[in-house]
Amino acid sequence: MMLILTAIIILLGLALGSFSNCLIWRLYKQESIIGRSYCPLCQKKLSWYHNIPVLSFLFLKGRCHFCKQKISWQYPLVELAVTGLFLFFWLAALKFQYLDSESLFLLLQRPNFYLYLLKDLVAAWVMIVIFVFDLRYYLVSNLVVWPATLFFIIINLYLGVIWWHILLAMALAALFFGTQYLLTRGRGLGEGDIWLGLLLGALLPNLNSLIIAILSAYVVGSFVGIALIASGHKSWGSKLPLGVFLALGALGALIWGENILQYYWRLF
Ligand SMILES: [Zn+2]
Repeated sequence: MMLILTAIIILLGLALGSFSNCLIWRLYKQESIIGRSYCPLCQKKLSWYHNIPVLSFLFLKGRCHFCKQKISWQYPLVELAVTGLFLFFWLAALKFQYLDSESLFLLLQRPNFYLYLLKDLVAAWVMIVIFVFDLRYYLVSNLVVWPATLFFIIINLYLGVIWWHILLAMALAALFFGTQYLLTRGRGLGEGDIWLGLLLGALLPNLNSLIIAILSAYVVGSFVGIALIASGHKSWGSKLPLGVFLALGALGALIWGENILQYYWRLF
């Protein structure tokens, strides 16, 4: 039973990972997301067997079937990342235990079990999309951020989070990024990052988690920035895509949130 459900989660991760690659490309090109997949290099329509997550990349040896040009590593990597996170959140929901059918059945009957799992899986998927999109195109797409924000507000309300806690977290995060936006006159970070702040607040209405997400984004971002400058890949004053690190920070807060907090409080 547990194996079957785990297999379903893996297949779901592969399918949604594959969909996020397609979504990222079409959002960038501002195309409709309906319609058959095609090779971004030669525009030829792909058959279903060119579209199997990870496997197609392997048996095509990383090249398009038609034009033989190299397919970006982004495709299998994103598919694997989404699948890996799905698997992690699923196993975390089971507290990393092997459950026999009976105890699994009891767990699945718990109120809100599915809602918590759904929230984590959607968060994983959305953050991967934001991460890759910002990394590749230095953009945060509002077509992803707005619906996701609405989704997390609704699901957190369903899960019993007090409405003004959500509102407060969203306001504080937006204020934080909005102030920086004004102070740097939009050079330090983009308008998209303010919307992203609202999304983070909606996803992490617990202020401790929110602070961890934003703080770790800045810490990791600074280290990466310094490393890039030291290695000569970037110069002072060149832009780093903040959304990349905020997406990582949000995932980090979801995965390690409580552990980091405990460690943090022990320092005082
Ligand atoms: Zn091609």
